[in-house]
Amino acid sequence: MPGEMRHPFRVVIVTGVPGVGKTTVLSHLERLAEDRGVKVKIVNFGTYMLETALKEGLVKHRDEMRKLPLRRQLELQRHAARRIAEDAARELGEEGYLLIDTHALVKTVAGYWPGLPRHVLEELKPDMIAVIEASPEEVAARQARDKTRVRSDIGGAEGAARLMEYARAAAFASAVHYASTVAIVENREGKAEEAAAALLDLMVNL
Ligand code: ATP
Ligand code: AMP
Ligand code: MG
Repeated sequence: MPGEMRHPFRVVIVTGVPGVGKTTVLSHLERLAEDRGVKVKIVNFGTYMLETALKEGLVKHRDEMRKLPLRRQLELQRHAARRIAEDAARELGEEGYLLIDTHALVKTVAGYWPGLPRHVLEELKPDMIAVIEASPEEVAARQARDKTRVRSDIGGAEGAARLMEYARAAAFASAVHYASTVAIVENREGKAEEAAAALLDLMVNL
C-alpha cells in the first residue's frame, strides 16, 4: 500500500445534506459495529471546527459557522482536518475504521463551498465517501421536527433537493483525488438502523 495514499486504518467520510440523518445513522452504526467486533472511531468534523470557533468567540452555535466569512471557515476547516487525522493516528491501528460525520458541500453565505477540497483530503485520505440520502420532502420534515438545530437557510424541500444534487456531484469530485469509493446510502423514514447496517456491510469490504 503506497503510504501517501492511505492511512493504516480505513477512513469513511459520511456526507449528506443538513437534516438527512448522518449523525443519527452513525449512532446506530456505532452499536452495530460493536456487536460485530468492528473497531470504529466516529468523529464529527463540525464539532472539531466548533471547538475552535467557540474558543475564538466567533460563534455561539454550530449552525452559525456557515455564516462566517469564508476565510475564517477555511481556517477552521484546515485546523479540524489536521486534528482529526492526528487524533485518529494516535488511537487506531490497521484493524480500525475512522468514520467522519461531515459535508461534501456546505451552503455558505458566500456560495456553495466544498467540504472536502484537496487540503482536507490530504489529511483524511478517504477509502470511501458515503452519501446519505432521503427524499427532499423527508429531509425538510426532519429539519422541521428537529428543534435543536437551525437549518432554515437550506431552503426547505426545494433547497434540499438542489443541495442534494450538487452535494452528490461534489462527493464524486472529491473521490477522484484519493481513489475513494462513493457509496449512496438511503436513510428511509424510520429506518436509520437499516441505513447504518447497509453502510457497515459496504465498509467492511474496504
Ligand atoms: P446535520 O448535517 O445538520 O448535522 P444530520 O444529517 O446529522 O444533520 P440528524 O441530526 O442525524 O441529521 O437528523 C436530523 C433529524 O432527523 C433528527 O431529529 C433525527 O432524529 C431525524 N432522523 C434521522 N434519521 C431519520 C429517519 N431515518 N427517519 C426519521 N427521522 C430521522
Ligand atoms: P454538522 O453538525 O455536521 O451540520 O456540522 C456543523 C457545521 O460545521 C456545518 O454546518 C458547517 O458549517 C461545518 N462543517 C462541517 N463539516 C465541514 C467541512 N468538511 N468543511 C467545512 N465546514 C464543515
Ligand atoms: Mg449531524
